[in-house]
Amino acid sequence: MSHYSIAIDGPSGAGKSTLAKALAARLGFLYVDTGAIYRTVGLYVARQGADCGKEDEVLPHLPNIALSLTYGEDGLQHMLLNGEDVTGAIRENQVSRWASQVSAIPGVRAFLLEMQRDLARRHSVIMDGRDIGTVVLPQADLKIFLTASVEQRAIRRCKELEEKGQSVPLETVKAEIAQRDYDDSHRAAAPLRQAEDAVVVDTSQLNLEESLEALYTLVKERLQL
Ligand code: C5P
Repeated sequence: MSHYSIAIDGPSGAGKSTLAKALAARLGFLYVDTGAIYRTVGLYVARQGADCGKEDEVLPHLPNIALSLTYGEDGLQHMLLNGEDVTGAIRENQVSRWASQVSAIPGVRAFLLEMQRDLARRHSVIMDGRDIGTVVLPQADLKIFLTASVEQRAIRRCKELEEKGQSVPLETVKAEIAQRDYDDSHRAAAPLRQAEDAVVVDTSQLNLEESLEALYTLVKERLQL
């Protein structure tokens, strides 16, 4: 049986994971959050006391990392790191930076590539990340580049952190997002960029339901479901 694949790429905080998750539930597809996979690698490496930005300190740890994705009854993705459920731990604010650092290392990207492709071979997926349409699934049935202004993304991220009891000033979050955008789009290995055949969806002026409707309409048109 052949499977559908939808790639959603874009900068942090554009609503990729929330929207991809909701869209996958509506379509009955598997949702794969690839950022969570990079976060898990960053968490492991940092826990070993290594510098996530240094290739020679990161690479020796890769063979010791066993990653698996499991899906709870709620359909949500859980990340297992050597058997430990780190789904909550990888959402700590500092892990974002570690993830961004390890993800700039080509050896880390190569280590994770096959795992991501394998999921798309076995299931109809909505996969979100930075290089899904360009590198991981260049043959995806639909590629979406989801974006929003830095201001809007920072406001959303602050709210998310507040809900978790972490209060971080808006200006700090804005600076972090701008820095991460810069790092993600200027790195040599798989920089964040829009695939030529991706459809751009800007959610700055759209709320969650409106964004979801826009994506759902697009999917229905393109995949002829
Ligand atoms: O999406 P999320 O913010 O959880 O991703 C964390 C970091 O992992 C990003 O800043 C990005 O550097 C990296 N990443 C990546 N490629 C992906 C997904 C995430 O480089 N496919």
